[in-house]
Amino acid sequence: TLPRLPVFEAVKKHDPNSTAVVHSLSGRCFTYGELMNDVAAARDRLAKKADGKSTEGERIAFLVENGYDYVVTLLSILGSHAIAVPLSPTFPAHELRYILDQSQSLMLLSSEKFQDKADEVLKEGLETQPINYKSEKIMTGKTDDTVTLEDLKSKQGGMMLYTSGTTSRPKGVLLPESVLTAQSLSLLEAWSYTPSDRLLHVLPLHHIHGTVNALLTPLFAGSSIEFIFPFNTQAVWERLASPYLPDSSKPKEKITFFTVVPTIYSRLLQSHASLSPELQAATKKAFSPENMRVNISGSAALPTPVKSAWRELSDGNVLLERYGMTEVGMALSCGLAFEDRVDGSVGWPLPSVEARLVDTETNEVIKEGEELDAEGRERHGEIQLRGPTVFKEYWQNPDATASEFTDDADGKGRWFKTGDVAVRRVVEGAGKSGQEWAKGPMWFVLGRKSADIIKTGGEKVSALEIEREMLSLPQVEECAVVGLQSEAWGQKVAAVVMLSEAGKTAGKGGKAWGPMDMRRALKEQLANYKIPQEMKVVESIPRNAMGKINKKLLVKELWGDQ
Ligand code: ATP
Ligand code: MG
Repeated sequence: TLPRLPVFEAVKKHDPNSTAVVHSLSGRCFTYGELMNDVAAARDRLAKKADGKSTEGERIAFLVENGYDYVVTLLSILGSHAIAVPLSPTFPAHELRYILDQSQSLMLLSSEKFQDKADEVLKEGLETQPINYKSEKIMTGKTDDTVTLEDLKSKQGGMMLYTSGTTSRPKGVLLPESVLTAQSLSLLEAWSYTPSDRLLHVLPLHHIHGTVNALLTPLFAGSSIEFIFPFNTQAVWERLASPYLPDSSKPKEKITFFTVVPTIYSRLLQSHASLSPELQAATKKAFSPENMRVNISGSAALPTPVKSAWRELSDGNVLLERYGMTEVGMALSCGLAFEDRVDGSVGWPLPSVEARLVDTETNEVIKEGEELDAEGRERHGEIQLRGPTVFKEYWQNPDATASEFTDDADGKGRWFKTGDVAVRRVVEGAGKSGQEWAKGPMWFVLGRKSADIIKTGGEKVSALEIEREMLSLPQVEECAVVGLQSEAWGQKVAAVVMLSEAGKTAGKGGKAWGPMDMRRALKEQLANYKIPQEMKVVESIPRNAMGKINKKLLVKELWGDQ
């Protein structure tokens, strides 16, 4: 028996014979009926492991590979009214230990595959609980009868996800099931997942993007989720090509939904060039708008060249960009209509999300129609959010919780201060699709207040805007724009660049492309004060699991303490 939680209520309504989860590489399929039964059984086993002790509100960490066992584990923890703490198998032992300690987890569950890793990170007092659902699966055929739901009312479990750790040590974000549900329902409405959708899942499952957007929401919708784990570009291409290859003996079902981070799109684009002509043609068809219904990018800014290259690769599919955070799930999103996927914009506040821009200079709320200041310049504002999708607290960190929320000035709830800066612009032709929430001026993210807004000679410059321009140059493969301390300017703009193949010989006399070349190339696109005054060429730009750059660390490594 499983409690009456929104996710189970939704899952119970789906056809028990329809596919819930697929292991892409082996072809194994699991139905919604099996899933519910396995979750019920896993929850009972969890209760036994807890030895009579209530698991309600307790954190249960788990180290399980992406796939069916992960889904069963997560749902069984929710069904135990506990807080699921998914761990990433790619983390080194000391990072895992940090999360185990920080979350004060009651248990660590691990799959066979990660048993050794789990043993390595375990501290005294914890023990691993090997799981192997396959051997204990209940197969009745008429699965619907065997699952009875009982009403446990207000009790709820949840998840604890850790932020990506881009600006400091990852913070534990407590997301009660009610918040996860609100986030899923908001996305369900905005992106219209359906039972006939199949989502190809290649993301890490310890972040909001992979868990809420690509797992929980499709479960709410009754879509199927097909996992490729571990991610590799070749496997993605071969899978996507399958239904469209003329000689494919067993064509697979077509993928209709794909959501990943910009760096994955870049990697896919790079590898696409070396595919056979046959695979190239088949994958083009797979990603074309008539087959790939929804094609999303987020978690970091989407470079415009990636977006346009993707459009070409996919025969016209325009990537839908959205903005979100561990603390709030998704907050802003472009719309389903192509005209509502405007370059550089993250769209509008999603259903049930209340968003406002608070002027970073004056602290005033920037109302609609007041986007420009007296001199006609765009007003920079911090994105602030509230509503049912917003988290309640950082785990064991009341100081951070207190400082990241405003006071409840109007009695309608506190606003969460995202620390991200944006502007709003009226975009001609956009916002007319009829999606209720997708209208009005569009939001453009300029970056993090702490790392991406560079104050130079009295001007505020967005690192993301400069990066976008730099990435459109053929000599630049990747780049990060940062602010350095400067006596003369307060801060000065600097760029860290990874050169493209062409860039390596694009300088004078066949030498590598250098700072002077960069300045010349950017003259047309950017005002003088925005052009980086310094440039360092590197072999690679370090990124975390979600493809994000820790700029503070990068500056420290390249320029020393600032
Ligand atoms: P930490 O909080 O530990 O420093 P993090 O903020 O990178 O790490 P996440 O919660 O995973 O951890 O990421 C949220 C951040 O990602 C946002 O605050 C924003 O800066 C960035 N982000 C997300 N989507 C976009 C987007 N579409 N464009 C630009 N930035 C984005
Ligand atoms: Mg953050």
